Amino acid sequence: GSVFGHLARAPEDPILGVTVAYNKDRSPVKLNLGVGAYRTEEGKPLVLNVVRRAEHTLVNDSSRVKEYLPIVGLADFNKLSAKLIFGADSPAIQENRVTTVQCLSGTGSLRVGAEFLAKHYHQRTIYIPMPTWGNHPKVFTLAGLSVKTYHYYDPATRGLNFQGLLEDLGSAPSGAIVLLHACAHNPTGVDPTLGQWAQIRQLMRSKGLLPFFDSAYQGFASGNLDEDAQSVRIFVADGGECLVAQSYAKNMGLYGERVGALSIVCKTADVASRVESQLKLVIRPMYSNPPIHGASIVATILKDRNMFHDWTIELKAMADRIISMRQQLFDALSSRGTPGDWSHIIKQIGMFTFTGLNSEQVAFMTKEYHIYMTSDGRISMAGLSSRTVPHLADAIHAAVT
Ligand code: PLP
Repeated sequence: GSVFGHLARAPEDPILGVTVAYNKDRSPVKLNLGVGAYRTEEGKPLVLNVVRRAEHTLVNDSSRVKEYLPIVGLADFNKLSAKLIFGADSPAIQENRVTTVQCLSGTGSLRVGAEFLAKHYHQRTIYIPMPTWGNHPKVFTLAGLSVKTYHYYDPATRGLNFQGLLEDLGSAPSGAIVLLHACAHNPTGVDPTLGQWAQIRQLMRSKGLLPFFDSAYQGFASGNLDEDAQSVRIFVADGGECLVAQSYAKNMGLYGERVGALSIVCKTADVASRVESQLKLVIRPMYSNPPIHGASIVATILKDRNMFHDWTIELKAMADRIISMRQQLFDALSSRGTPGDWSHIIKQIGMFTFTGLNSEQVAFMTKEYHIYMTSDGRISMAGLSSRTVPHLADAIHAAVT
């Protein structure tokens, strides 16, 4: 017998498993609204033109070699990533109070940050919003943190439960870590307003809670990189400390390249440099050092004025297409007279709509209409097109009537 014969079969990942089921479906009308990856109007994956250009530049530069990167990754990439999220004129950057390390996309950045906190921070409890991205609790628990939740979403309004959020953070133990989605909250598409962010900041700082931002959608929510970074910048502006995990998966379409960064904003330059020295001790035994190609693409684009500009145009086009899908779906339901208030479809922001459909309705839509999504009723707006909106609207209409 095998030494692994005792193993039970593990369940599919709740998000990636949706694609597994979709791939098995033979129907020509099948539609995958599960995974959060951008698709064109034609339903195809998109490589940005500016990414192709950057790759071309890299490939034709014969001086480039395949040596190991340092443990913390590509220096230019780190510097430019911090500038992108904190702003070009950020005092924290100017005062050298930020340490940034290249990590394996958003997930890897969260994991390195969590491992660092579990090892060196006095409070090992992290509060995550309810609901949140399904990987969050697993990443933080395995890193050695203890996970608790705070109220976030109000099913009745399909908006923010701001009161519940303030109460939960207000009663969190002093020093606790709080995971905040920088923008385009996944899965709800519900973000605090700037005024609400200001109140959250005030409460968190007064209680000494440590902010850990997950920024997986900068530029993807509003179409504007600075606007989508406002939440983070509000916290950094007060001189306090925080962590930020950045991903270039969505906003540069670099999903499989696994490019991201972890930044830790500290009180002083001296603390930041000691923090960085300890981050290296976290990273070295985990994967030694990060891969070179994706980070080189990002650095090439971020440091070239023209390429950066072209990126912002392509990014805005992706965001705008998603926003137009929201309007089209909303209009399609209105014209069918589908019962219920569907205005949250146009109010929510980012890649996902949290439809409010329950797991039975989702199962019905999969069985009868070959539409695939997570069982919590989250649909990826990026997977929709003008061609497929009517089919989805028919399915939702049938599911709720
Ligand atoms: N955080 C959130 C909220 C996400 O939605 C995602 C991706 O879906 C990630 C982090 C991590 O993505 P990646 O590791 O591909 O950058």
